[in-house]
Amino acid sequence: MSPSRLRRIVGTASLGLFFILFFLTYLAVNSGATSVRHPEIVMLATTALNFMVIVVTMSLSPWVGIVGTLGALWIVYPWFVNYDVHVVFAFAASSLVSWSVGTMFCRNFFYLEQYHKLAMDRAEENANILRDEVNQNNADILHLERRLKRYTQLNEITEQFSSTLKEDEIAKVIVDNIYGLFGKSDRVLLYRVNQTDQELNLIHSKRIGDVPYVRLKKGDIFDRWVVWKKQPLLVDNTRKDFRFSIENEKLDQSFTSLIAAPLVSGERILGLIRTDSKTPSFYTQEDLRLLDIVADLASVAIENSFLYQRLTDMAVRDSLTALYVQKYFKDALAQEVRRFLESNIGFSLVLFDIDNFKDYNDKYGHMVGDLVLKHLAAVLTKEIKPGDIAARYGGEEFAVLLVGKDKKEAEVFALRLQDMLREAPVVLRREKTPITISIGIAACPEDSKMADDIFRFADRRLYKAKKKGKNRICGF
Ligand code: GH3
Ligand code: MG
Ligand code: MG
Repeated sequence: MSPSRLRRIVGTASLGLFFILFFLTYLAVNSGATSVRHPEIVMLATTALNFMVIVVTMSLSPWVGIVGTLGALWIVYPWFVNYDVHVVFAFAASSLVSWSVGTMFCRNFFYLEQYHKLAMDRAEENANILRDEVNQNNADILHLERRLKRYTQLNEITEQFSSTLKEDEIAKVIVDNIYGLFGKSDRVLLYRVNQTDQELNLIHSKRIGDVPYVRLKKGDIFDRWVVWKKQPLLVDNTRKDFRFSIENEKLDQSFTSLIAAPLVSGERILGLIRTDSKTPSFYTQEDLRLLDIVADLASVAIENSFLYQRLTDMAVRDSLTALYVQKYFKDALAQEVRRFLESNIGFSLVLFDIDNFKDYNDKYGHMVGDLVLKHLAAVLTKEIKPGDIAARYGGEEFAVLLVGKDKKEAEVFALRLQDMLREAPVVLRREKTPITISIGIAACPEDSKMADDIFRFADRRLYKAKKKGKNRICGF
């Protein structure tokens, strides 16, 4: 309770008591109990009244106190005047003294009150400052919590990126994580840039229920901008962004706002990651910054997967021709035999050797010999179907596994290969030089159901083809 309120309550109560005591004294005097013959009652009444004068003056105001005192004197005067004027005088004098004391207290109270008010104002001000600080701290905590959550998410993403080295799995991890990261996107798209023609190709995407699949698998004007500028992009409204003229663009109508970031490794652009929404102004600058960080992490993961792919390729592929090596081919042959035993799908083995290859080396040098090997490998790679396996089996000896093809079909393939080599001769010292090959063919199950036997048959027939004068096919 404030001092002024306390003072008012005490003052009002005292004023009430002040008049009650007057009334009681009045009754006592009139009943004849109080007279000069009974001074103790007069003394008691005088003491009580003086006390009241002090309290009223102190608590309410000097003006109320003086009015009360004069009122008291006016009431008391008729009672005592008949008895003793000295009593009246003493009463009046003591009342005035009491009033003076009350006035002094009242002034002190006033100062105390001012001091209290000032202290209260100061306390209020401090409380406001503290409240502001608390609010600011709460906002900071919220901000930090959000950042911590994002750092934790980034940490988890990094862990997931390092959990695999396969490109398709990394693509899935990137898209899944970005979808979860913003928690509000309608769609996430991951594009790869073809390094030869710089064209975009959609390699992975994710979308919520009613959003249609992407129609522009080669990207749109916004994706091309990101690839061209190698910069992240935030578009609040695709139809109102002055940077893009969309009149002649076939825009996918299922999104309005988007963020996109390039996947860059050094100077090379590997692709881009993009997330979009139907709602305009859906993404903030902070979202874009986060996407850019994830894109940087994703770029490293993709680059690592390329290196890993190259490393695994180096282990199984021949460095000159990029065809599989002998060891890989042998495993594949054994695998095909197992597959035949399980699912009855046959295959053919085509083994061939370049005729008089030594002459190329002797005539033109080893480098040109290598060129001939490369040329042949390129023609062969073009001729085989996905699933078939072509290998450089030895120096200038090659082997092909034709999955699901019987001996007749293998002979057709062998003939076509000879034709192709004839039709596309290698140019050596400005001279078109046709390459001829001798071919031996064996098939599973026609010749055998065992890998070693099949190979031996093909090898023997190749030798037979050489013996018969080269540049021919031997299937029996
Ligand atoms: P044939 O018609 O009987 O097969 O005669 P050929 O000359 O083709 O066979 P030969 O076995 O006599 O010679 C093969 C040559 O291939 C010997 C070797 O120097 C050469 N050779 C093996 N590997 C390579 C290579 O990687 N590069 C080059 N340039 N030559 C190679
Ligand atoms: Mg040869
Ligand atoms: Mg040979």
